[in-house]
Amino acid sequence: MVTLYLTHHACVEHDTGDFHPECADRLRAVQRVLEGEEFMLLHRQDAPPADREQLMRAHPESYVDRILGMVPGSGLRHIDMDTVMCPESGEAALRAAGAVVGAVDAVMTGGARNAFCAVRPPGHHAEIAQAMGFCLFNNVAVGALHARAVHGVQRIAVFDWDVHHGNGTQDIFQADPGLFYASTHEAGNFPNTGFSHERGVADNILNCPLPPGSTGDVFRSAVETAIEPAMRAFQPELVMISAGFDAHAHDPLAHMRLTVADYIWATQRMLAVADDLCSGRLVSVLEGGYDLPALAGCVRGHVRALMGV
Ligand SMILES: [Zn+2]
Repeated sequence: MVTLYLTHHACVEHDTGDFHPECADRLRAVQRVLEGEEFMLLHRQDAPPADREQLMRAHPESYVDRILGMVPGSGLRHIDMDTVMCPESGEAALRAAGAVVGAVDAVMTGGARNAFCAVRPPGHHAEIAQAMGFCLFNNVAVGALHARAVHGVQRIAVFDWDVHHGNGTQDIFQADPGLFYASTHEAGNFPNTGFSHERGVADNILNCPLPPGSTGDVFRSAVETAIEPAMRAFQPELVMISAGFDAHAHDPLAHMRLTVADYIWATQRMLAVADDLCSGRLVSVLEGGYDLPALAGCVRGHVRALMGV
């Protein structure tokens, strides 16, 4: 069984302007590293575009229309200080969400054991009806809800190890006991949500804020003592990862001290959960990560772990 890699050139053409940390060079760095010979056995697929029905499982129709209607004909349009659109951003956003739909289809039908979606704009800050934090549509949530609607998956668990709390995914998941969201993130960083008392309707939200400056042993302890046991207790039929790599020690937007080895370890923990509970079905989706060499190194280790090499 293979690992599937989905990406799309439109995701590179999503232009956020000069000096924006969430820049096209991020995805170029990821794509370049995954072109290496060591990834020859990766199966590759162009991300399909998400359709309206797929987006509307996570967002109301009025929001989908509003976002797609805001795509500028030329130049850049700021949704807020951080969140920017260019003429190609609509297509990029559809491909980013569609990549996760395609990945879910592949792992649910046996076309792949697991999958990595190299996409931008990222998704985990996009709430039910609010774009923010570089995110337009919630890619992971669109994929999770597609798994339920089309493949009959009743229980889906997401581990979000991006250094920022995925307020958007929590917003979409928290009232639904069939969806589980767990997050490690830097306390006090953007968007300043994700407190441990936020538990969801059925303890289906698990937030593990970590102190700024935390090293890998603090992160690993949170995974071992809280995240992994809760995910196993939830008994998911599909495991998903919101794979941001901005808790790396070199990242300019945060103050954590993780290394490539920590991300490889966490990937292996999630693979073990998926192997034990749902035949290895796991879909990983790129979120943040803003130091280009660190991002490329983390993705290399993460995808090698997914491939089992
Ligand atoms: Zn982040």
